[in-house]
Amino acid sequence: MDTIRNDWSIQEIKDIYHQPVLELVYRAATVHRNWHKPDEVQVCTLLSIKTGGCTEDCAYCGQAARYHTGIRVKSLMSKEDVVAIAQRAKDAGSSRFCMAAAWREVRDNRDFETILEMVEGVNDLGLEVCCTLGMLTESQAGRLQEAGLYAYNHNLDSSKEYYKEIISTRTYDDRLNTLTHVRKAGITVCSGGIIGLGESHEDRIQMLHTLATLPKHPESVPVNALARVQGTPLADLPKIDSWEMVRMIATARILMPKSMVRLSAGRSEMTTEEQSWCFMAGANSIFTSESEELLVTPNPRLDDDRKMFDLLGLKPMVKEKVENSTL
Ligand code: SF4
Repeated sequence: MDTIRNDWSIQEIKDIYHQPVLELVYRAATVHRNWHKPDEVQVCTLLSIKTGGCTEDCAYCGQAARYHTGIRVKSLMSKEDVVAIAQRAKDAGSSRFCMAAAWREVRDNRDFETILEMVEGVNDLGLEVCCTLGMLTESQAGRLQEAGLYAYNHNLDSSKEYYKEIISTRTYDDRLNTLTHVRKAGITVCSGGIIGLGESHEDRIQMLHTLATLPKHPESVPVNALARVQGTPLADLPKIDSWEMVRMIATARILMPKSMVRLSAGRSEMTTEEQSWCFMAGANSIFTSESEELLVTPNPRLDDDRKMFDLLGLKPMVKEKVENSTL
């Protein structure tokens, strides 16, 4: 059995990342089978509870107010609507429910009180509740934990060096501070990144190094391919090759054996064959959404995911608290 290590060197990660893809996938699949049931994939529903109008300048994001993306701004949803969607997600096979708000940071106002009520409501359904709300203080993290929050998503996006090229309105250290607050509060961490932003292989290796040398690995590591949104500065970048996703996922799986590795944005541009390589390489979670959108970009239809699961012999991971999965 592989051990959990937090002392990976850059060179070790380079050696893993640059292996021939068949060797890399074989090794990652072996690690995957040592730590997880290879036929189980966690289905996580992602819901945008507040859309667009964000003050930040993340160059990949269709929700940044400064870019003309044509995305309709929507204010914070009601708790009742969110809990109803969470119930339907559970009935359709999700064991985790992630609520996303396009904010720079959480403010201590009425919206935050509503979020806390949403967390309680979704937690009462027996789902793992996750939020992604921007930067968070220690006391806000504590209040979310008390309300029943299971996980907090805050991606590193890229390497510390490349981060400056894609976001200027906050720093990499701001990101890491929020992760520290989340950990201190006893909430599990969901943190990964995006490839296809114009970064180098070195940047990807650096980002994986940062994640894999945190005092505790994130319990969940989303690997996203850039979803190119018209109107954003990165809209015209080329589509990322699926082998690059496979390489990232496999390396993340080897470095962080126990973590859930999430095949996240980009699935709608991947064939079933391409996605199956990602599962073989150790991905064991996907995002779904009722609206067939992942926040503001396309995501596969639930029916297509069901067919893919049947074909590949995969089944949705069932949390002890979740029954009646039908995906
Ligand atoms: S990624 Fe998040 S913080 Fe950045 S612009 Fe989009 S919604 Fe705002």
